[in-house]
Amino acid sequence: MTEPLDLKKTINLPKTDFSQKANLGQNEPARLKKWDEMGLYQRVIEARKGREKFILHDGPPYANADIHIGTALNKILKDFVVKTRSMMGYDAPYVPGYDCHGLPIETLVEKKLAEKGKNKNDLPVATFRRICREHAEHAMDSQTRDFSRLGILGEWQTPYLTMSPEYESSTARLFGKFLERGFVYKGLRPVYWCIHDQTALAEAEVEYREHTSPSVYVKFPLTSDPKSIDESLDGRNVFVVIWTTTPWTLPANLGIAVHPDFDYSAIEAPNGEVYIVASELSKAFAETVGLAEFMELARFKGSKLDRLEAKHPWLDRKSLLMNGEHVTLGGEADAEVELDVRFENKTAAKSGTGCVHTAPGHGADDFHIGKQYGLEIYCPVDNAGRFTGDVEHFAGENIFDANPKIVALLRDNGMLLHSEGYSHRYPHCWRCKNPVIFRATPQWFISMDETTTGEGQGLRAKALEQIKQVKWHPAWGEDRMRNMFKGRPDWCVSRQRFWGVPIPVFYCQGCDEAIADPKIIDHVADIFAKETADAWYARPESELLPEGFKCPKCGSEDFRKETDILDVWFDSGSSCVAVLETRDNLRFPADVYLEGGDQYRGWFNSSLSCGIAAHDEAPYRRIITHGWVVDGEGKKQSKSLGNVTAPQEIINKSGAEILRLWAAAVDYTEDVRCSDEILSRVVDAYRKMRNTLRYTLGNLDQFDPKTDSVSHDEMLEIDRWALVSLTEVSAKVLNGYERYDFQAAYHALYNFCTVTLSARYFDIIKDRLYIMAPKSRERRSAQTALYHIADTLCRLLSPVLVFTSDEAWENLPGREVQSVHIAEFPKTETADNSSLLSRWERIFAIRDEVLRSLEEARNAKQIGSSLEAKVILTADSETTRFLLDYFDQLRYIFIVSQVEVHEGDKLGVEIQKADGQKCERCWNYSVRVGEFEKYPTVCERCIVALSEIEKVAAA
Ligand SMILES: [Zn+2]
Ligand SMILES: [Zn+2]
Ligand SMILES: [Zn+2]
Repeated sequence: MTEPLDLKKTINLPKTDFSQKANLGQNEPARLKKWDEMGLYQRVIEARKGREKFILHDGPPYANADIHIGTALNKILKDFVVKTRSMMGYDAPYVPGYDCHGLPIETLVEKKLAEKGKNKNDLPVATFRRICREHAEHAMDSQTRDFSRLGILGEWQTPYLTMSPEYESSTARLFGKFLERGFVYKGLRPVYWCIHDQTALAEAEVEYREHTSPSVYVKFPLTSDPKSIDESLDGRNVFVVIWTTTPWTLPANLGIAVHPDFDYSAIEAPNGEVYIVASELSKAFAETVGLAEFMELARFKGSKLDRLEAKHPWLDRKSLLMNGEHVTLGGEADAEVELDVRFENKTAAKSGTGCVHTAPGHGADDFHIGKQYGLEIYCPVDNAGRFTGDVEHFAGENIFDANPKIVALLRDNGMLLHSEGYSHRYPHCWRCKNPVIFRATPQWFISMDETTTGEGQGLRAKALEQIKQVKWHPAWGEDRMRNMFKGRPDWCVSRQRFWGVPIPVFYCQGCDEAIADPKIIDHVADIFAKETADAWYARPESELLPEGFKCPKCGSEDFRKETDILDVWFDSGSSCVAVLETRDNLRFPADVYLEGGDQYRGWFNSSLSCGIAAHDEAPYRRIITHGWVVDGEGKKQSKSLGNVTAPQEIINKSGAEILRLWAAAVDYTEDVRCSDEILSRVVDAYRKMRNTLRYTLGNLDQFDPKTDSVSHDEMLEIDRWALVSLTEVSAKVLNGYERYDFQAAYHALYNFCTVTLSARYFDIIKDRLYIMAPKSRERRSAQTALYHIADTLCRLLSPVLVFTSDEAWENLPGREVQSVHIAEFPKTETADNSSLLSRWERIFAIRDEVLRSLEEARNAKQIGSSLEAKVILTADSETTRFLLDYFDQLRYIFIVSQVEVHEGDKLGVEIQKADGQKCERCWNYSVRVGEFEKYPTVCERCIVALSEIEKVAAA
């Protein structure tokens, strides 16, 4: 007989290098380095070679500042999409991009130059652009560092840059494509104009803020014979009264619009003057301007006033009365979308008069009706917002400074009826926050409805058609995009700046003809592809045009370059060709664009136009939108409120993994809350998931799945139940991933880890894993289940917990590939296991009852550990028969030493002290402890285990 074994050493304690403490702050950078060294991204791509493609096209963040929590959420969600599709077996490359041109960098560089006492106008444009380029590169490097730190795999060494030579070349070429298709025209049009930045602004570049403007009621003396309106007005002193909140546009007044179908009244003031205003507004008007009483002399339709003439209130100039359907009586419009196109419809308010001051150079509606009536598109305001020389009294004056002076002039010459401060939502420049104006300038436009060739559908119609083809997540995106396209005016794509892609157009010095020719543009684009668009500024015209090029109109060989650059939204919008079609591993259209809701105005919008110009097709099959990150109370995060959660801080303190898990746990389709408290709950959830992985790995020590696995039929039923539950949860998780519902996947995984595994399965099999002989069928059965659980959990968690799942994977026996990210999702079988699941649901319901009774007994100090207990169950006859089928297992399921089942009326649980002695090895109680000579302190079950262990030791 051999020496008795040391009992403690015969317990199969868990063992793994996957530690309980995550130490993410240190371990994440180490793992990133490892991934970098092994070329993980490339290895994933190689593993998927030849598979179906899945393309998420990255919307380029602006390369200007450090990343914030919103950009982190955006990039993490994109990584979820790419990684889940990759694990589904798609070839899913990720090419990140950066938006490099544009005002923020230009403004910053100007400021830095100013600090050194320099002015950008003193530098050659090419030099200024080089400084901008360097700045963008620098900011980009720091963003790349931050994004990669989040565990996002992709082509970080070779991101696409809107300022790269290939990209700038593609952007120029795409402008040529727009020209070729007849979508481009140059015209004098009122556009949003920032007098501070001295540039035109796109609709997406203005934001509405409260602003107080001077509100004035101004008389325009009627010069046409008033008798033609009504007999009663014969010989009277008649005025048409307008209302405006932009007195500075009065010098540009060329007309007054009235609605042809509205009623207008001629009312007599106590001083004998007669005023024409809309009948519906006459009472409110009289009150506002302080007419104690008034008499209505006549009432007539606005159509009566058509083409009559009034005199400008102080200039020797006529003002034409016109009929316009755009005139309203309904109060200043509230909806910003509406204001976009007609904020200059100044009298469309209750405080108005129904007679609309019209300055065709300063308003969209004014422009349209002015065109219709043949008025000049007159704009006597320069780039810097100063009146030009032909404005009497105010030449050279800043328009906003001139406002009170104009009011004073009107008061002095008796043309002012009333003035007051008027607070309203007014468009401001989103860069410099100053109020913007509407100003007519020569600009390049992309037409929404017409084509210069007169052929084919307009862009708007094509876009509305494409919007129907795209899938929208969430679904409201479709309406939002449709409304954007329904209401948007022609797209002004020219900007009077330097840092961008120049509009590759020449003008003939002989006859001023614009040379806007796709073939010439291709020639210029070839030069850009070699030298960047800086060539436009570095080279003379003769070197940019094909050799010997002559003006097709006058034959001149002397040209000048266009000085405007393209809107940055045109830049980023062209990525659908500049990136998707220039990289071998990508294709047009992309499967998914995923961005914040602001991109309906921005990138989603401009990309759609660009895709249509290039291919008559939307550049995306699906649009996914995420909300904003707000604080714990749902308030906007801002530095001044001190409620900002900085991603860098979270990463340093808790790890990028925590940010990722947070991003998976929230409903990203709405505004997303983030605070220290929320993050601490995420940390807690992380710990639970990590412990789950650790339990499985710890109990797989020395287990080789190839040789030690137990066949399905030989497994214990509860282990088969665990595998069936695993299959169920896998299906749920994969379904969530499929639908881009990461929250559903997260909840399924979290519940599986905490409820199914930790609170049930792991508790029950612990005894078997620790106590049974290492190679016994019972233990191997549990290990077989644990192996599949560990393997599957690593795969399912890997898109979210990129670091942890990979660390766990390294500790998984028999893994087939080096990193979990190279592996694929498990294939879920669809066998019907409902009867197995329902049997176990029944067992767990009874178990819950038993655990409750055990808890009570523990609280009453009747027992200490549950192993000190014997459970006596009473149940109806059917339940009794059901329970007896599981009789051998019941003590392990309840984690007690003994169980008795008796038939009775209904379910009853009684707890008694267990019979016999406590086994020194397994702590279960047994009446047979002491029976065995060699191991007098152990139970009969341990004796079996020990003799097996001895046998193995001897062999
Ligand atoms: Zn501005
Ligand atoms: Zn010419
Ligand atoms: Zn024992």
